[in-house]
Parts: sequence; C-alpha cells; structure tokens
Amino acid sequence: MTQTFQFCPRCTKPLAIGSVDEGPPRLRCPDTGCGFVHWDNPVPVVAAIVEHEGEVILARNRMWPPKMFALITGFLEKDDPDPASGVLREVDEELGLKGRVTEFIGHYPFQRMNQIIIAYHVVAAGEIVLGEELVEYRKVAPDQLRPWPAATGLALRDWMIRRGLTPLPFENEPIKQIQNLRIIDDRLATAGQPSAEQFRAVRSGGYQSVINLLPADSISAVTGEQAAVEEQGLRYHHLPVVWEAPTAEDFARFCALMQAESDRRIFVHCAVNKRASAFVFLYRVLRLGVAYEVAARDLLAVWQPDAVWSRFIEERLAAAA
Ligand SMILES: [Zn+2]
Repeated sequence: MTQTFQFCPRCTKPLAIGSVDEGPPRLRCPDTGCGFVHWDNPVPVVAAIVEHEGEVILARNRMWPPKMFALITGFLEKDDPDPASGVLREVDEELGLKGRVTEFIGHYPFQRMNQIIIAYHVVAAGEIVLGEELVEYRKVAPDQLRPWPAATGLALRDWMIRRGLTPLPFENEPIKQIQNLRIIDDRLATAGQPSAEQFRAVRSGGYQSVINLLPADSISAVTGEQAAVEEQGLRYHHLPVVWEAPTAEDFARFCALMQAESDRRIFVHCAVNKRASAFVFLYRVLRLGVAYEVAARDLLAVWQPDAVWSRFIEERLAAAA
C-alpha cells in the first residue's frame, strides 16, 4: 500500500535521510548530480459509503483481521476522469454493483498510510459479487452503524450526522490524548508516558500488553504504573533503557519480549516516545522485515534521532548486516 524506496529509482544508489532547504527529514539520493528526493506526498484514495436496498455495505479486505470491516476504497487511477468516476469504478470492481454518486462527503487525511481519502455516498443496485480483494461483507441499517475513529470511519460519522442520525462516541478516542502516540498498525503502537488514568484508554484501544522502556527513577515515570496497567487487565513489562546509553543487550531483551508477546496487541512507551520509536523501528526492520523506508517514516514522525541514538541505530543495523 505505501511506497517503499530503499534505493534511488533514478540511479540505484542507496537513499539516505537528509533535509532539503532546511525542511523536514526526507529520503534523498546522496549523489548531488542525481538529486532525487522522495517527497512522499500523500496518495489519493477514493471511498464509498455504498447504500444498497436501504442498508450500508461494509466489507472486509482479505489482508485484514477477522471482524474488521470498512468502506469500499481504492486508489484513484490515472485514467479515472475524476474521483467520483473512480469511486464508481471501485464499487463495480469490488462489489459488482453499478452505482451513482449522490453526495460528496468530504476528504479525510489518513496519515498512518500517507493517504488522503476522498469520500462519497453511492447508491447502488444489483446483485453483490465480491471482487478479489474482499472476502466478506455485511449490510447494516444506517442507524446501526458504529463509526471507527480513523480514516473512512470519520466520513461515515459525518454522513450519519448529516442524515440526522446520532453516531456513538468513539470508544477509543481518549487514546489519542496520550502524548506522541504513534499507531504503527493494528497490533502495535508507540507513545510517550501515559498518565495512570490513560491506561484505561490503552485497554479500550484494544491493547493487551504494555512495554515500558522508561527507568523508574526518570522524572517522567508514573509511580505505580505496574498496578495501573494490571488493574486494566493488561500485561506489564518493564525494560528500562538508559537514555544516554542504550545497549545491544537492551535491544536483544526487547526483541525477545516482542517475540514472546507477538500474538498480542502491544503498546510500547517511554517518556516522549523517543526510545520506544527507535526500538520499534529497529525491531520492525531487523526482525519483521519491514522496509527501512516504511519503518523510518514512523520513527521520523516522532523525532530525528540525536548523535547517541543515531549511532545506536547504525550499530544495530550494521551488526545485523
Ligand atoms: Zn540517484
């Protein structure tokens, strides 16, 4: 889904992180004669709230976990005359239905996937025939819809409100209040230090295990964190990492812990998500095989590692090479 570049698509040299005109960090070609910069602009995606016989169709992509349903979406294509035509093409491809656009709902940033979602209400008729990307669908009466607090869920919520319906409040919205939260995927998030009360939001966000990288004597540490976490029925692991001196042993222990918890949804935190984002970056690249550029985006969204941490990251990458 996301673009992944490790090498310059023009001259094939390995890309490096740098800034352009003192802007934010970007992947760029180290060869000044080439000059390629991966700007990584958001990708436009069209989304449809498909109304069929008075109900809304929610579908599950074959890549998604069970019980996860969302709107019909797809990338806008070069040959689509406009986004509204593109969304009708997607509805046809994925549901086998001919539809018509009745309303433009809005556009919604989906930063985790680096997409901009352009959402429409589509009324469609005919017999549903699922396309290759989908494995199952549900039809839900409009007043029974329960929007989710991200991406297409926000479009669904707006659409319900316009129809005079009252969507339920987002259950896991309070998790967004945790400082420097970065949701990596549906199983993993990194963040700064939550308050004791915010572990309730961590649980309602669906997380099952908490890994705390902050030493107990840190000024940001929350006294009684273990009890606050376990009170929510979550597993707690404390793996203190000294800010000025992260070690290879710290990272090895972290990897073992992540591996042991790999069947659970994990919430990793430190003080301001610097340690956590760096460890998770390394774990994804070295243990999960995630493309460097994809993992680096999540890291750089939080911070630009300083000298100590840049060296630590380079050493871990070199040790694994
Ligand atoms: Zn190049």
